[in-house]
Formats: sequence, structure tokens, C-alpha cells
Amino acid sequence: MVKDLKNFLILFFLLFLKDGNCAKNLIDIIIENTKPIMIRENRRLPLFIWGSIPLNLPEQQIREYLNQLIERNIVVFTKWYIPKEGIEVGIKESIKIDKIKKDLNYPIAIDATSVVHRFFDGSEETGHIDEKGKIFFDMSFSSNVKIGCPFKIEKKYDVIKERLEKFLKAYKQEGIEIKYWAIDWEIDGPIEWNSAWENSKKCVICRKNIKNIENFDQFQNVIRKKRADLQREVFVNTVKKYFPDCLIGNYAVNPHDGYRYWWDYFEKEVEGATYQRKHNALFRKWFDEFRYSGYTIAMPVIYTWFRFFNDYNFEEKEYRWFYPLLKEGTSVGKNTPKNIPIISFVHWQTVEKPKQLPSDFTPLSREKYKELLWHLLFRRFDTFCLWSPLNEIAEEIKVLYEVYVESFKYNDFILKGEPIFWDVPEEPDSVISGLKLKNKLLIIRSDFSEKKEIIITKVDNKKIEIPIISGPLILELK
Ligand SMILES: [Zn+2]
Repeated sequence: MVKDLKNFLILFFLLFLKDGNCAKNLIDIIIENTKPIMIRENRRLPLFIWGSIPLNLPEQQIREYLNQLIERNIVVFTKWYIPKEGIEVGIKESIKIDKIKKDLNYPIAIDATSVVHRFFDGSEETGHIDEKGKIFFDMSFSSNVKIGCPFKIEKKYDVIKERLEKFLKAYKQEGIEIKYWAIDWEIDGPIEWNSAWENSKKCVICRKNIKNIENFDQFQNVIRKKRADLQREVFVNTVKKYFPDCLIGNYAVNPHDGYRYWWDYFEKEVEGATYQRKHNALFRKWFDEFRYSGYTIAMPVIYTWFRFFNDYNFEEKEYRWFYPLLKEGTSVGKNTPKNIPIISFVHWQTVEKPKQLPSDFTPLSREKYKELLWHLLFRRFDTFCLWSPLNEIAEEIKVLYEVYVESFKYNDFILKGEPIFWDVPEEPDSVISGLKLKNKLLIIRSDFSEKKEIIITKVDNKKIEIPIISGPLILELK
């Protein structure tokens, strides 16, 4: 009996571990740090969390979680994946959870990242080939990923398409409508950074396919176009075939002004690329990948990359974060057509922070991060998708949710207003963003220099006075 009890307890504990229930899971943390919202409002897009409900929970528990998320207007994704037991098992598991979502009228959002990896699967047939006929790979992006020849992955298109179609067909058969379909597809497929150019120049196939390969801009155009075509053909067209109205997007693929104002963690500079320089920061010339990929949502990235802190010498240190992020946000907002929703990945606490910090290190404050979110909402962003490691998620969701919930007060402005300010001051100063709706303005102001009491400016040739404020303010145009 005692032994049985012991075994029972061990089994019980293991089951808990398996379900990720021994510690709080993502959903528990989100629910604990947010409150149901009273305004039931369906015109605005929900707030997204890049995460999902753990599999293998009892149905009742899943329903409870979903009901609480519905009350909060928060959408989490269903993760498509291929378990060891095979794709059919993976499909069954995701359908199980999405049937419940459908039943509760909860929007179905898919994170298909793990199903679309990888075109570059490390197989010989995907490698570059040098003059002596030797196959080689580019290991400069990740020690786990053998990036090969951009002109040898077309054979893989059907492999990935087929996987996606299996999921899509099963959803169609079950009558489950997919509303959002997104991926975080990064270190795979053709990319131009790190040692890619150097390697392509050594590859006979790349040399044959890229005219003027010695010119980085032309190399970039060919590579990114190829990357965009791949995404359109394999991801976008395949999903649309089954769910024509589905909103489809990929991490960091968005319209822009021709430049990118941040670097991803795996990207390294290439000598010979076209840059604009600001202090130590390099703004990279960027291809219009969004247009050719055919995505129907823009998913820019607004993260406080540690690198920003050393890239800029602004004495007002918070502006070292605010400036590049507003610059990126403005580039995206200004160039995204009105029919394309902007669902921005966001993260507040410093990303890729080293153990050893500079003695004068100053992170972006909570208050200024909130203001940044307002500026983005007033520069055409529709909503946000929170990405966060589990240990930072409580703080992340709290601050983001405060702005999201408060923004419901201004739905008409956000849905129908026109952005009126796009300036990003080159030196720390007052930053203003605003939306105009008929004769009313909704303004947010952030100060990074000695505060001027009143800022006087003009909208539609009418003088407006903007006082120091600590949140959004409505003004009348007279
Ligand atoms: Zn090649």
C-alpha cells in the first residue's frame, strides 16, 4: 500500500511535469496579470501573445483558460508541430484544441513555425558547389543550421507545402476556419547577411544565377526577391487556397521606407552593403520583401535590442532606445497600405542583454515604453503581439495590457483617424504623434530634452498648443 502510494505520487508528479503544470504556465501568468475588460468591442483587433495553451490539459481546463482569455480580448496561438510519433498525431492534437476554440467562438490563430522549418535541412542536395565540385554550407547564421544554396531549395517547396496542406485540409474538413496564420521564419531560406555573399561568390550556381554578384545591392535584390517568392508560393498561396480570408504574416516582414533600423540577434554586418550611419548605428538598405511575399498582415519588430545602447551616443540615454524604435515604427506605419493590419511584435525589457552591463547602462523606462506604444498606435499600428521569455512575461503583459485597454477609449480615433505627425527628432527633443478625426485631435507627447511648457504647432493651418501631458490628450481644432 505504502509502495503503491509512493508510485502513485511519483506518477502524479510526472504527469504534472509533463503538462508543465508544476510551475505556472504562460496562460496562468497572463491571466494573473490582466483583468477582464468591460468594454466588449469587436471592431479592434485583439492583443496577441506569441505562445499557446499547453497540450494535454483536460478539456475543462482548456475551456476555462479560453473563457478567461476571451474576457480579456487576448488571443494565443495554436502551435502546429510534427511530433516524433508523426504528423498525423500533431494534426490531431492541434485540431483537438481548435475544436474547443471554435466551439467558444475564440479566434483561431496558428503558429506554424515548426512545420515550415527547414528548407535548408542540411542535405547535400541543398548545398553550394565550388569550382572543384565540392559541396559546402554557410554556418555563419547558426551552428545548428546549414544554410546552403538559394538556387537549390526549390525541390523542398513541395515537401513543406505538403506538410502544410495536411494540416490545412484537416482543418477544412473539420469546418474550423483559420483567422490568423503566422510564423517566425528566420534562419532558413535565402538570406544576404553574415557570410552569405562571400559564400555565394564562391558557388558556381550562385554565380550563374546572380548578375553582377560583385555588387552587394544587386546580390541583396536577387536573394530577397527569391526569399519573398518562396514565402508567397509555399506559405501564402497554400494557406489562401484553403482559407482565402485568413490574415497571414511572418516575423519582421513589413512594408518600410527602404531601410531597416535594427539588427536581429543572428545578423552580422557585411562590408560593402549600403548603409546610412547615425552615431555607431548602421541603417541597412532593405528590399521590399513584403510586397512580393503577398502577406496580408505586417509584423514589424519593436524590441529593445541591447545593441541600441552602444549604437547611439545620445546623452539622454532613454532616447537611445526610443529613437531607433520610433524610426522603425514610423517607417512601417507610413508605408503600410490602409487595408493591411499592422500587428507588431513587441518586447520592453532589454533583449539580448549581456551579463556584464556598461556602468552607465539605462534601460528604457516603463513610462517611456508605454508612451512609445501610444506613438505607434498613433502612427498606424493596429495592435501588438507580445513575444517574451517566460520569466519576463508578467511585467511585459502588465505594461502592454495597460496601454491596450486604455486605447479602447479612443477606438474611433484609432480606427478612423488620420495620423498627422511623422517626425522623429534626430536629437533628443519632444516627440509628438497624433490622430485627426474631423475637428478633433488625439495627441501623445514625449519629452527627452528640457521641457518646453507648451509646444505650438499647426494642423490644417490652424494653430494648436500641446501642453506637457502624461498620456493621450484630445484637442479641438478651432
Ligand atoms: Zn550557391
